[in-house]
Amino acid sequence: MLRIAVVGSGPSGVYTAQSLLAQSTVPGLRIDVLDRLPCPYGLVRYGVAPDHEKIKSLQNNLRTVLEDERISFYGNVQIGPGGVSTDRLLGLYHAVVYCVGAAADRRLGIPGEDLPGSCSATAFVSWYSAHPDAAADGFRLDWLTARSAVVIGAGNVAVDVARILSRGADELRPTDVPHAALDALASSAVREVHMTARRGPSQAKFTTKELRELGALPGAEVTVDGAELALDPAYLDPATLPAPVRRNVEVLRGWATAPAPASRREPPRVLRLRFFLRPVEILERDGRVGGVRFEHTAPDGSGGVRGTGTYEDVEAQLVLRAVGYLGVPLTGLPFDPATGTVPHAAGRVLRDGAPSPGEYVAGWIKRGPTGVIGTNRPCAKETVTSLLADAPTLALRPLTDEPLPALRQAGLRPVEWSGWLDIERAEAALGRSLGRGSVKIPDWEGLLAASRGGGEWGAWGDRCGVADAGWQMTEVGSRLTAVR
Ligand code: NAP
Repeated sequence: MLRIAVVGSGPSGVYTAQSLLAQSTVPGLRIDVLDRLPCPYGLVRYGVAPDHEKIKSLQNNLRTVLEDERISFYGNVQIGPGGVSTDRLLGLYHAVVYCVGAAADRRLGIPGEDLPGSCSATAFVSWYSAHPDAAADGFRLDWLTARSAVVIGAGNVAVDVARILSRGADELRPTDVPHAALDALASSAVREVHMTARRGPSQAKFTTKELRELGALPGAEVTVDGAELALDPAYLDPATLPAPVRRNVEVLRGWATAPAPASRREPPRVLRLRFFLRPVEILERDGRVGGVRFEHTAPDGSGGVRGTGTYEDVEAQLVLRAVGYLGVPLTGLPFDPATGTVPHAAGRVLRDGAPSPGEYVAGWIKRGPTGVIGTNRPCAKETVTSLLADAPTLALRPLTDEPLPALRQAGLRPVEWSGWLDIERAEAALGRSLGRGSVKIPDWEGLLAASRGGGEWGAWGDRCGVADAGWQMTEVGSRLTAVR
């Protein structure tokens, strides 16, 4: 018998569980997938943009894995303070694989970063993804009164948030975007979005498919400045670039050289892609963000840039920094603050340089926040190979208690798979009451009430008016409430 906990039910956690099922020959294998949230799927549910429905549909593949009879899902299970300690987990399981991702975001470290109207792109993503912690995360919907927005960074998160700001709300209506976010985006005043990279087009981190999508937005016109792009020597001669980068450069060149449209009708929104701009200060006006001061940069000949000593102020009332995620320490696990990861060797957690028996990592907390969802497969496989090589020794260790009763004894109320299915049903009902498809429940109270079905869901539904045909369920701020 081998009992394993996988902490985190995003792609890395689910691929770890899948790899365990596929590679293990151990009889009596049992895997519990634990998550802090009541819902599974991690960033596929709470990070992939709602208009990326094909990537979102990956949830169906993840679901198939989690429905395997050798796997149990327990949501609403916090590991660390206020929940179950890492030590206690080792008493309940022969091995624990931490797949907790990178929950924080990098900061710029420049003046003005905390002005009202400035926040991380991840806070904005959490808000339009209905993450139950979004209210605490800091994006405020009244910031959409901004006429001009600056997005700092040139990765796929920057592209996601620039695209959502530039899209018409009607295009998002068929998605599961929460209703309050949809309403706020529909009345958004944002007309200009500046997406800014500190280096050149051949160093941008976004992928070509995502970049191309920006040029196909019905309500927005993309602009690039050919002279700015041409500061990058590789822009002028892209032949030697690796194919993915060359394709990016070709898309940008296509936009730079496209003839101006015959009709000069003002597009609803303009999305300006800017390069060689390093943010040095977020400027204040009337107590909130008024703009961003950038220093122009120039290539330094070895892939980096140097400051030129010339500056440009871009007017904006909203600033989203999309400069990368950052792993956060989990109490009880070693952590390298420089990389935001847990030290490991082929997935085995290292304590003082030596493998810690029974403790493993996979995904972003193992290798840092890079790569597409599929990158998690080989990453998980490597960790599972290490774990299964150790399994004969690990399985000798007697376990103290059954996990589910022990979790309950620790004061937790785990949401089991059936509870998650109840949440899905509640979200479908919420969508129906709003004349939409399935719509996400955006708060802890609603998610937990839905997961408990019966009386609690009924009481919550009554409070929110879902059971009363005269009322319609809607959201005010990030909370569900009822309106006539
Ligand atoms: P990322 O790909 O690492 O991009 C971060 C961007 O921020 C880079 O352009 C970087 O510029 C810039 N940056 C970093 N520090 C900066 C600073 N101090 N000032 C100005 N700019 C700075 O990170 P991400 O966009 O958060 O994406 C994380 C991962 O998720 C990536 O692997 C991404 O592909 C993936 N993802 C994929 C999708 C998708 O497939 N659709 C969607 C979202 C995210 P430098 O290059 O100069 O450092």
